[in-house]
Amino acid sequence: MKITFLGTGGGRDMMIAQVRKTGGLFFETEKSKFIVDPGPGSLVHAISLGLQPEKWNGVVLSHFHPDHANDANVYLDGMKEPFLVAEEHCILNKRQTKAEFDYYPCVTPYHQAKAKISVMKADAKADVNGIKFTGTKCNHYDPAIGFRISADDIEVGYTSDSAYYKGMEKHYDGCKLLIINTVIPKGQIAKRAGYMSVDGIISLLNAMKQKPQLVVLNHFSFWLMRSNLWKQEKIIQDATKVKTMHADDFMTIDAKTLAVTKYRGPGKV
Ligand SMILES: [Zn+2]
Repeated sequence: MKITFLGTGGGRDMMIAQVRKTGGLFFETEKSKFIVDPGPGSLVHAISLGLQPEKWNGVVLSHFHPDHANDANVYLDGMKEPFLVAEEHCILNKRQTKAEFDYYPCVTPYHQAKAKISVMKADAKADVNGIKFTGTKCNHYDPAIGFRISADDIEVGYTSDSAYYKGMEKHYDGCKLLIINTVIPKGQIAKRAGYMSVDGIISLLNAMKQKPQLVVLNHFSFWLMRSNLWKQEKIIQDATKVKTMHADDFMTIDAKTLAVTKYRGPGKV
């Protein structure tokens, strides 16, 4: 299993500025290729890296915010017989709940009809193209889930957008690699609840029975970048003894060996 970060930015200020890209996570497994949370620019970056999205198998959405889902329709349009594994509010056609969510459905009815859909919520499971997906509970300000993704005998956790809550650790226990969307630097509090802080990551990792071998921080705001990503990852690593690094745009991780390949520019390998 190989994961390429088609972007490591998140939040509306970063999304509109594109200082860090917002293309999501591209997974290549033995049986399947798919994109998780394709925000704006995802398709263009995939092409610029020489990837071939027309041959991919599907799209996975943790929630309907544009920095996670903007390019979903574009990919579904171009793929042949795609699967779609999506948090349920991404694909509802009508306003079926009492709460009003202005972004949904973020996948159009046409593209919903084209895809083989797995409707996901926390603790729901889907087995698609040889990949096992389990929805993990999020504490975000709109409906969202994270994922536990299992393929090629490897389990990877992806928290998506969530503040730490007690019990979160049980969702990711035993994952070899844990990708955490991180917004709030050490010792700080966000104006709006529902985002992961460095303090929250420390609580999460220290509560885990079987800790990951590697934690990768992702989904950066300007706030976290100004607070020095190297410093923030060291604070986490020192407090938890779990190897921690921040992701860079277009970097690749081999989930089996945990070898990281950084992007060195067009045409350079
Ligand atoms: Zn969000």
